[in-house]
Amino acid sequence: MQEKGTISINTENIFPIIKKFLYSDHEIFLRELVSNAVDASQKLKRLASLGEYNGELGELIVDVKVDKDKKTITISDRGIGMTADDLKKYINQIAFSGATEFLEKYKDKGEEHQIIGNFGLGFYSSFMVAKKVEIHTLSHVEGSEPAIWVGEGDTEFEIKPGSRKERGTEITLHIAEDSEEFLEESRIQGILDKYSKFLPVTVRFGQKDESVEDGEDKEGKKKWKTVKVDNIINNTAPLWTKAPSDLKDEDYLQFYKELYPFSEDPLFWIHLNVDYPFNLTGILYFPKLKNDFEVQKNKIQLYSRQVFITDEVKDIVPDFLQLLHGVIDSPDIPLNVSRSYLQSDSNVKKINGYITKKVADKLGELFKKDRAAYEQKWSDIGVFVKYGLISEDKFEEKAKEFALVKNIDGKFFNIEEYKKQVEPTQTNKDKSVVFLYTTDQEKQHGYIESAKKRSYDVIILDGPIDSHFVNHIEQKYEGVTLKRVDADVIDKLIDKDEKKESVLSEDEKNKVTEAFKKAIADDKNSVAVEPMATDDMPVTITLPEFIRRMQDMQAQGGGGPMMFGEMPMTLSVAVNANHSYTKKIVEAESEEQQIELAKQAYDWALLSQGMLTGKSLTDFINRSVDLASK
Ligand code: ADP
Repeated sequence: MQEKGTISINTENIFPIIKKFLYSDHEIFLRELVSNAVDASQKLKRLASLGEYNGELGELIVDVKVDKDKKTITISDRGIGMTADDLKKYINQIAFSGATEFLEKYKDKGEEHQIIGNFGLGFYSSFMVAKKVEIHTLSHVEGSEPAIWVGEGDTEFEIKPGSRKERGTEITLHIAEDSEEFLEESRIQGILDKYSKFLPVTVRFGQKDESVEDGEDKEGKKKWKTVKVDNIINNTAPLWTKAPSDLKDEDYLQFYKELYPFSEDPLFWIHLNVDYPFNLTGILYFPKLKNDFEVQKNKIQLYSRQVFITDEVKDIVPDFLQLLHGVIDSPDIPLNVSRSYLQSDSNVKKINGYITKKVADKLGELFKKDRAAYEQKWSDIGVFVKYGLISEDKFEEKAKEFALVKNIDGKFFNIEEYKKQVEPTQTNKDKSVVFLYTTDQEKQHGYIESAKKRSYDVIILDGPIDSHFVNHIEQKYEGVTLKRVDADVIDKLIDKDEKKESVLSEDEKNKVTEAFKKAIADDKNSVAVEPMATDDMPVTITLPEFIRRMQDMQAQGGGGPMMFGEMPMTLSVAVNANHSYTKKIVEAESEEQQIELAKQAYDWALLSQGMLTGKSLTDFINRSVDLASK
């Protein structure tokens, strides 16, 4: 019984297209063939457990071998095997139609990057690297005859009787000249490590050296010798496939090390496990994020039934969750489709929602169970929580309870709590509660001090997304306004409409204003002489909150409209009418002296903002020395 024929399709020759199309991703042939071998092994196990197969199972190992001389790669399994009829049905028809369908769908789409993992090409992906493929197989069905299938990368094939004695399938690829890189052991090892690390059936790639103890020498010292052991690629039962109740913290930490060998321990983790309405397992770890969250992205690995697919999970998990590490395994994520399709896929949406909810629940649980421990972790998870809060409404609903702000005394509050905390003291005359915040405790020290003098509280918002967080709080909490401590003089930041009497007359105020205007000699800056507490600084320089936010948004790229691009630095200069120094200016002998005193006070204010540099700084020092020597 020998048969020759032509695979019936209308495309004359799809192999050159396969080859060209997936140019950058040739290595996936190995993933596909090894996965098929694993599937065939698991099918046999299932048949045995159902009582439909009664022969011996033996060790269901998958072997990958490279023969550099013969220029072949062989993948063999002891799975269900195929009869000649099976070959016709599965390889000629199913596998082939799978490959053509795949190409029909994607050959016009151009960019191969659009296809996540290029999953689903199957058996025929072997022709990306092989000029000829042979299948030697023997079915598990009792009394089956061994069969051989040979194809040479065109639409012709040959099926003939074989001689295989052992149940299972051996696929031999005769590697094409332009693909000889795949005959390098290190290359194959690398591909297996990437895609097959957690397959459910043992995969062996030849042997490797290992040191073992070999008795003791005369002095009683241990001796070692090198022996050959099987080079096993995979951990067949990775942690995420196990029941959470069977696992200890050490197990999770160890698995994290297995995934990311050089990383610091994670903070905590979530074991995902759901089978309705979609199937998904996995473990997500919270890494120590600190503030450099950009570098941490793309660490989540996506698997489908323990086959590695991709670590580009952009469209599967919400943006903020990409800061997490770990593994997601789902057979329900459509992996052979383009990104735009993926985004609208209902399973993907559900998965997104599920993960978001799980993560929020976990954080909520940690917060409630041990608030002190949660607060301690805040510097690591704060960025993450805020990012989620701002970008995902679903997350925000839950996260508002455990999204915290820290004040300068190191105390933590959620927004609701904080509002209650400061409401009695920090309510404006227009009834809005003012949250004072600092972005830099060092630089804004003087301003923080004046807030403290009024018994006001200040929170620290110095993180990379805090400028967005500020806007978020104002949007979500009616009657709350945030003001940076240096945005105005303290009694304007929280304006209680308590009239302070000025010790200066209108006339004197004008005199002082004039002196400062001349001293500053910059029209952009406004000068106001106002009654303040006698122990407030004589001069305060502020940058209005609104203008500063615009500048912040612009510095972060995008946001602010272009017209603010050339916005000049406009400072407000507030002079304390009630300070004794101001009185001194009024009483100075000449206008020249008034200007000099004003200049000095203005420079103090600049100095306290860290804004006095260059010639202005030198002038200031010289002037101070002169004044002190007088
Ligand atoms: P898919 O695996 O997506 O179904 P493939 O092109 O990879 O598509 O394979 C087509 C079919 O060929 C498989 O569904 C399976 O029935 C059969 N097959 C492939 N490899 C093996 C193997 N090693 N042992 C048994 N059957 C196999």
